[in-house]
Amino acid sequence: MSAGTPGTLHRRTFLALAASAVVAGCNDTTQPDAAPVVAKDHGPVPSAPAPKAPAPTTQAKPLTSRPPAPSELGVIPVLMHHRLAANVNGEYDMTPAFFRAELERLYREGYHPIRTIDLVRRDLSAVPEGKTPVVLTFDDSTPGQFALDKSGRVVPDTALGIMLAFQTRYPDFPAVGSFYLNRSPFGLSGAEVPRALRYLNDAGCELGNHTWDHPNLRHLETAEAESEIGRLAAMITAAVPAAPARTIALPLGVHPRDHRVLAAGGRGGTAYKNEGVLLVGAGPCPSPYGKSFDPMAIPRIRCSSYQGGQGNLLMDYWLDRLPRQKFVAGSNNSKVVAQG
Ligand SMILES: [Zn+2]
Repeated sequence: MSAGTPGTLHRRTFLALAASAVVAGCNDTTQPDAAPVVAKDHGPVPSAPAPKAPAPTTQAKPLTSRPPAPSELGVIPVLMHHRLAANVNGEYDMTPAFFRAELERLYREGYHPIRTIDLVRRDLSAVPEGKTPVVLTFDDSTPGQFALDKSGRVVPDTALGIMLAFQTRYPDFPAVGSFYLNRSPFGLSGAEVPRALRYLNDAGCELGNHTWDHPNLRHLETAEAESEIGRLAAMITAAVPAAPARTIALPLGVHPRDHRVLAAGGRGGTAYKNEGVLLVGAGPCPSPYGKSFDPMAIPRIRCSSYQGGQGNLLMDYWLDRLPRQKFVAGSNNSKVVAQG
């Protein structure tokens, strides 16, 4: 069904009218008992009681039964990853094996990866009926997230390598994610940088802004904050002119004093625009079709294998609680016009 059919419009009108009450209910029921709303990447861990989440299993099964009923005002997990490495030293680290298990769980439970920009633009057209969108985000552009070997192939134990291998096994689970870059992304320099960025873009991934030097933006003057965002935006535009960064993940989860700096700024070669802003914590994102959705303040769920992935408010904690509250795509999902 196309965007302009009467059926679609009627349905969207209904959803818009129903949005505030239903989504507010979802938000209320997904909050933990004593959850702080915002955590900080590289900062202290939220202090809610540790959930007893089950360990990820390794066997995924595609959904073969009838799709669940559509629920397009349900919540969407936006997952936040940092360092992927064999040696886990802290709460922002994850082993490749744990990341594989994470994908297995997401697939088994009917999630379908999209990018942040798709969520921000309310374009969920890629999400099949009965599936739930999930956004895989990666901050700090560390080498474990993406690397090419000497033959130009993606290193298997990197995040993208794992996602591509998973897509080979399960073609209905696309290897797409949003990578939030700093200077010298993935430990690269010189001509390696545009090569890597083009590779990621060609693979269907989003190149996002995480600022040039990863500063605490609150400590900067407006012009300095614009420079931090604009220089990184220019790096991406130089590599992939057709895909400028349009979303930003806040370093340390901290806003600049003037929030308007996030939406647009700079001039000349460092001019930039952002349509979406990613926070650091700490819960699922409201439906983009609901009134409480704010593309300039998108909450995220932390992912980590530190201490067996049993830390506070991590992915398993939330996914265990989402089955009756999550977004489920309908048959003509996607055709929403952005709401004022
Ligand atoms: Zn960061």
